[in-house]
Amino acid sequence: MPCTPGAEFTLPQDLAAQREARWQIQRERLAASAFYQRHHRDAPLRLPAALEGIAELPFTDKEDLRKDQARHPPFGSYLAASPESVTRLHRTSGTTGQAMNLALSAHDAKLQAEIAGRAQSAAGLGPEDTVVHCLNYQLWMGGVTDHLGLEETGAMVVPFGTGGTELLIRTIRELGINAISCTPSYPSRLAEVLREHFPEFEPKSLGLRKAFMGGEPGLDDPAFRARLYETWGMRAMNSNYGVSDFLCNFAGQCTEQNDLHFMATDVALAELVVPGEETVVPWEAGSQGELVLTHLDRECQPLLRFRTGDLIQLTATDRCACGRGASRFRVIGRTDEMIVVRGVNAFPSVVAAAVNACPELNGEYRIRLAHPPPYDRLPLEVELLHDQAPNDDLYETIRQRLADTLRLGVALTLLPSGTLERTEGKTRRLIKDYRQ
Ligand SMILES: [Zn+2]
Repeated sequence: MPCTPGAEFTLPQDLAAQREARWQIQRERLAASAFYQRHHRDAPLRLPAALEGIAELPFTDKEDLRKDQARHPPFGSYLAASPESVTRLHRTSGTTGQAMNLALSAHDAKLQAEIAGRAQSAAGLGPEDTVVHCLNYQLWMGGVTDHLGLEETGAMVVPFGTGGTELLIRTIRELGINAISCTPSYPSRLAEVLREHFPEFEPKSLGLRKAFMGGEPGLDDPAFRARLYETWGMRAMNSNYGVSDFLCNFAGQCTEQNDLHFMATDVALAELVVPGEETVVPWEAGSQGELVLTHLDRECQPLLRFRTGDLIQLTATDRCACGRGASRFRVIGRTDEMIVVRGVNAFPSVVAAAVNACPELNGEYRIRLAHPPPYDRLPLEVELLHDQAPNDDLYETIRQRLADTLRLGVALTLLPSGTLERTEGKTRRLIKDYRQ
């Protein structure tokens, strides 16, 4: 079945019949899958006739999929379709473990592009725009699959990929490109090259006015957005939130507000579940939980109650000022990075913001957990600015300020600048000094 036209403008309850109809077809696909038969080995696989019964079924997680692909390469036995029906294969980098092979049929690819197109359209991309797509086209979904999502908006899409920044600058100038799809960190690299090789051009004079981004938490920081606007005259939009095993892009903000619209209500079921537990949280404004996703129309590698590991907060389920009925949410953090201190949840991203807001600190920090939970206070190591030395007054001021901002007790260690180990690439800021 194709996507329901305009589904993102419909309130979720008005799509219920649509979803049930898709579930009838999806049930058949799941019932024929060796993986789901085994996954339900404790009891015979009984897929409910109506979607409301789905909460009785077991969850699936990344580890289940990983193990299954290792045993049944290359697609895993959760392929649930003939290998001949696969028309596109993506691969994850495997930097944090085994690479995953992600299979799409022609139907799956079309549906994925349409959902991604909804997110990019909501963020303000349309037929009047020319957008250059600057994500890596090698293997992963961010390349060609995101590209096809951009095309769904009717915009003219220029496939650029990564590298060749000087050529990119010439291309933007010569084609009159007004929009860029890239990572949030890319514009600063672009500005550097501009200064070095084209000192006669101000970033603003390049004519980029819209930036379509996703994937990095800093994107929602108002200071980041303000800086980008100041330098480039360009508005940054969080238009690309996805889970590669599920759909590469199924949520994005609109031009009216900053929360993410869930764009896949006609083809997917989203649930909220208490992290580490099985309790389902009601889908209503203010609810918070781990996002659990089920494909309602997927031929290859369908997922059933897939635990994404992303903790989200639903912010609204009514109609948005932009006219869309799709529910809105915010991503709070990863459930495996959540630290509970006397009932208060803390995430490295939130701690980072609090540390960055302290004028005496240089922004470097580690959360070092010496023992398993529970925690009375948050064990936090921070570095002072380079010309400062730790002393008792400074210690108390900073400890108090962090405790007030984070609203929890902080066991602070104040360090001179340069004490914490610097690594190339992504720094691990949450360190567990105990065997799990
Ligand atoms: Zn909206």
